[in-house]
Amino acid sequence: MILDADIKAQLNQYLQLLENDVLLKVSASTDELSRDMLSLVDELATMSPKIKVEKTALDRTPSFSVNRPGEDTGIIFAGLPFGHEFTSFVLALLQVSGRAPKVDQKLIDQVKNVKGEYRFETFVSLSCHNCPDVVQAMNVMSVLNPGISHTMIDGAAFKEEAERRNILAVPTVFLNGEPFGSGRMTLDEILAKMGSAPDASEFAEKEPFDVLVVGGGPAGSSAAIYAARKGIRTGIVAERFGGQVLDTLGIENLIGTKYIEGPQLGASLEEHVKQYNVDIMTAQRAKRLEKKDLIEVELENGAVLKSKTVILSTGARWRNVNVPGEAEFKNKGVAYCPHCDGPLFAGKDVAVIGGGNSGIEAAIDLAGIVKHVTVIEFAPELKADSVLQDRLYSLPNVTVVKNAQTKEITGTDKVNGITYIDRETEEEHHIELQGVFVQIGLVPNTEWLADTLERTRMGEVVVDNRGATSTPGVFAAGDCTNSPYKQIIISMGSGATASLGAFDYLIRN
Ligand SMILES: Cc1cc2nc3c(=O)[nH]c(=O)nc-3n(C[C@H](O)[C@H](O)[C@H](O)COP(=O)(O)OP(=O)(O)OC[C@H]3O[C@@H](n4cnc5c(N)ncnc54)[C@H](O)[C@@H]3O)c2cc1C
Repeated sequence: MILDADIKAQLNQYLQLLENDVLLKVSASTDELSRDMLSLVDELATMSPKIKVEKTALDRTPSFSVNRPGEDTGIIFAGLPFGHEFTSFVLALLQVSGRAPKVDQKLIDQVKNVKGEYRFETFVSLSCHNCPDVVQAMNVMSVLNPGISHTMIDGAAFKEEAERRNILAVPTVFLNGEPFGSGRMTLDEILAKMGSAPDASEFAEKEPFDVLVVGGGPAGSSAAIYAARKGIRTGIVAERFGGQVLDTLGIENLIGTKYIEGPQLGASLEEHVKQYNVDIMTAQRAKRLEKKDLIEVELENGAVLKSKTVILSTGARWRNVNVPGEAEFKNKGVAYCPHCDGPLFAGKDVAVIGGGNSGIEAAIDLAGIVKHVTVIEFAPELKADSVLQDRLYSLPNVTVVKNAQTKEITGTDKVNGITYIDRETEEEHHIELQGVFVQIGLVPNTEWLADTLERTRMGEVVVDNRGATSTPGVFAAGDCTNSPYKQIIISMGSGATASLGAFDYLIRN
């Protein structure tokens, strides 16, 4: 038996929801993984009379496809869909059986209207928490559109192929054999990348807003909910709803919620905003702000949104070290997410650049997977909390290099080393390794604002205690501001403040 009792009990409940027959076509050999895959599908077939199993030959062995009898959907799992991908597998079963995916009708129509042949392949690791979103979005597209197919490939099960195709970050997606993208992507982002995003004409008819929020993380969600609850015309435009929490594994300091996983919080923020009358525009990037009679926000697709007030909540992103090799080897050994990409460096040597809390947490996490971790810190001392440092120094496979300036990340087609300068002796050192995790903090997403309002030297938008910026009618909240602390609960609070500030401004003007 491959499924333990707990999983089997849960699965039993889900299988009750199957609407029609599902045919699993399995490509298996005699190796251990193939035998496990056969056990899995056979066990499923004993659990539900709606699940049928048939042997076949697919491009990869072991793998299996999830189909309607007589009609292939194009959904294939290569390797066992366990770990974080188990939900993707269960959803595929339900959706192929006829249950409607929980996706906006607008997006469903957009997927159905895609013309042409799209053969997607996604490399995942089963411990990657960003991967299921991509796999599930791709599978939904395959269910809805016969021209779209998708194979999830577990990089650990297909190690030789992953190495041959230079996969050093997950999820990595290929379209018709060519690189398509990597990192977490939502369905609307994927559609936008496929060239099927809404164009400017879809925004042309929009009436001016009372409050337009730019950014859909904790700060933006909170601002939008507070505005909508005042009954005023509210819009929210966001590149990626959820923001940084989508990249966070476990959150234990959102007061009132003992523990929540980041992607779950991201989804619940969106769900909460949708409870209200808010015009939600996702997969859209703002590129220009201008104060005229109304405030104008121009999007990258050329559309111009108008509003009486604007709340900026564009958050922050990983800071780059900006040394030669970083951009060149991104996803080819240079990584930013230890939880996602750590397993791809199992048994290898890696470096972590940065000795703050996130760097040391990453080093501790990676030390459990990789052969050796070198922490490279610019300052003479690590900046991480002492409990983290104690834990780090207790590990046998970690070296800490302090007072070191990273000079270059070296490689040919992927990373093969790192060069740093000892700041005391000015000597140059080179370490041979296969991966570099950059963990040197965050940079605010505010470049697009240029000098339309006051920003700090670091680029943070300067706000007062009502969230007002130097430009009348423009407010800001969360990690993109000069708030000294960057946390979820603080962003939510400042989003509420900015929204109430904007409401006050509307009443007075
Ligand atoms: C790995 C990690 C772990 C963390 N762990 C915790 C934790 O345990 N507890 C905690 O309290 N905090 C944690 N944080 C910090 C927390 O996630 C942030 O403080 C919080 O998400 C900030 O919220 P925000 O809304 O200001 O910005 P963000 O979450 O960064 O959201 C910004 C939003 O703006 C959008 N956007 C950006 N630019 C544009 C543009 N030009 N046009 C349109 N939209 C745009 C983005 O797509 C996104 O929707 C963590 C952060 C990271 C990276």
